Amino acid sequence: MSGCEAVLASLEAELGWIGDTYIDLHRHPELSLEEQRTSKLVEGKLAEFGYAVTRVGGTGVVGVLANGNGPTVLARGDTDALPVTEATGLPYASAVDGVMHACGHDLHAAALLGAAKLMADGRAAWSGTYIALFQPGEEIGAGSQAMLDDGLVAKVPRPDVAFAQHVMPIPAGTVATTAGPVLSAADSLRITVYGKGAHGSMPHMSVDPVVLASAIVLRLQSVVSRETKPGDFAVVTVGALNAGATANIIPDLATLLLNIRTYDTHVRASVLAAIERIVKGECSAAGSPKSPEFEYYDQFPLTSNDAIVTEKVRAAFSAHFGAHSVRTAQRQTASEDFSRIPDAFGVPYTFWLLGGVDPENYRAAVERGTVAQDIPANHSPLFAPVIDPALSIGVQAHVVAAMSYLATEGATQ
Ligand code: ZN
Ligand code: ZN
Repeated sequence: MSGCEAVLASLEAELGWIGDTYIDLHRHPELSLEEQRTSKLVEGKLAEFGYAVTRVGGTGVVGVLANGNGPTVLARGDTDALPVTEATGLPYASAVDGVMHACGHDLHAAALLGAAKLMADGRAAWSGTYIALFQPGEEIGAGSQAMLDDGLVAKVPRPDVAFAQHVMPIPAGTVATTAGPVLSAADSLRITVYGKGAHGSMPHMSVDPVVLASAIVLRLQSVVSRETKPGDFAVVTVGALNAGATANIIPDLATLLLNIRTYDTHVRASVLAAIERIVKGECSAAGSPKSPEFEYYDQFPLTSNDAIVTEKVRAAFSAHFGAHSVRTAQRQTASEDFSRIPDAFGVPYTFWLLGGVDPENYRAAVERGTVAQDIPANHSPLFAPVIDPALSIGVQAHVVAAMSYLATEGATQ
């Protein structure tokens, strides 16, 4: 038996409490950076498993299992829920009004706890250090930064490699990986442009910010179509445009809310620079009396998987799950803040996708051509990963990835 299979030998016996933990977390979702109950639960379990447990960044929890010489592996699970009212009708649906684990972070946390237990019980089969990191506040892009601001890098051993996974609307029983960018960088931007208010009947007395903002919205359409190299990916969305309140008053300012997604740090920099240049230029053209203001918020870094780590983990997944269960991940336009953690340590990482949809339902929806309509995606009030086999596969994926680095020499993987 390989080291990996030795660690996984007790999986069946552990799935009971892992499933109970998932259901418990699902029933008691907590919003970003308010994960008090979840953190206490995680701390208790990790301590029981023999981990050295540290609180980092408020509701962040890190468990460290030092097990002799060898590499250090960091595995991250996120823990927060969303302000969504659950509509699944499941017997274990959220017991908290208006809050739901609609992104599967409950599954990530339960799976990582399961892996942490198996790694602790199976420590005879490996050597090195295993770090299970439970990150709060992923949905608002603030949790990994909160842990870093609280000294994460100094508080835990430096990993050699870092892993994270995310349950997605792909068939349960599969995992999907890809080298390079897998999740986009995201930036939200609030822009305030200034005009000069006047009576609606006296436009010549005004600098009309409604016209100015409209010109900006149109001109911004050229950032992707005319300034971004064909083949490079970028999204620039103006999600909100607000100015004025009544028909006969020209207001004195307008605000625009933009969302920007990119897969490349250079593309990101040039898109953001183009946006600022266009806004400033239009303000100048309009005779705006005051410089525009730019406020960036809800920023997520790029998630770009290291090629060597990804290949090693993908090979281990194929050996364990069978090649047919390991897919090539499509790049997602969604975003994550996980990569700030390995980036802060300066270490490579890989982030894989975990199937959460009943395979039969998925296949039927593909045949009908209605995947987008019939398969609830992350953040939907109907989002409901199938516990079996998604949770078990999530546990196994963490163990297989970790053991591809930690298995004791001589053990085949
Ligand atoms: Zn989410
Ligand atoms: Zn998520």
